[in-house]
Amino acid sequence: MHKVIDIKNLQKTYDANGKNPTTALSGINLSVNEGDFVAIMGRSGSGKSSLMHVIGLLDQHFEGDYLLNGVSVRELSQSKLSDLRSSEIGFVFQQFNLLKRRTVLQNVLLPTVYRPASDDIERAKEAIKRVGLENRIDHRTNELSGGQIQRVAIARALMMKPSLLLADEPTGNLDTKSANSIMRLFREVNQQGTTIVLITHEEEIAKYADRTIRIRDGKITEEASK
Ligand code: ADP
Repeated sequence: MHKVIDIKNLQKTYDANGKNPTTALSGINLSVNEGDFVAIMGRSGSGKSSLMHVIGLLDQHFEGDYLLNGVSVRELSQSKLSDLRSSEIGFVFQQFNLLKRRTVLQNVLLPTVYRPASDDIERAKEAIKRVGLENRIDHRTNELSGGQIQRVAIARALMMKPSLLLADEPTGNLDTKSANSIMRLFREVNQQGTTIVLITHEEEIAKYADRTIRIRDGKITEEASK
């Protein structure tokens, strides 16, 4: 089985050269296979964001090993790292991070700005269709509901056909009904083959994943698979 994420003995310390070092992660071992749907759970301060930043190639200052699709990321230059980030990882955050005055199509096309290809519009339309927003394609995102906006964010994340979809509390700003419909969409996307790592503190949301990993004080305390 192909490993998308292979993390061995990860340790993350903030302010390591100062007087108040904080160990945010220690001794984390985690592997995620292609096609997995994993939820990472933990209370505030448990280390979820720190782990997310490492997995999402947003933080290279850690000890231990992290291989993304077999590539050791710690030794990569900043430019290789950002190339890898844009080609391999699709992000969906709690905050929607969309351009409000731009249309759905324009927002979904954003990741292609730095590496345009001739089939961009076609792929964007396909991604918009996948999230069920084809009838809103030319609407500005400030005319959409929270749930629809998060669908745009998912379409944008899928646009570059990432090997990993990373979602950080993606339903945190949504009502229960919209949250459940977004989670059903994530399941669909996963069933179509995209590997997903989801961060959440809600049991109701984590139950959509096939595997749940709990962290506490920077350590994995429990792992459960369906
Ligand atoms: P969570 O996302 O689960 O709330 P974090 O990864 O944000 O947890 O935090 C884990 C620990 O690391 C906490 O003790 C937090 O105070 C600390 N921490 C997080 N970011 C920083 C930072 N930039 N500088 C110093 N300490 C930090």
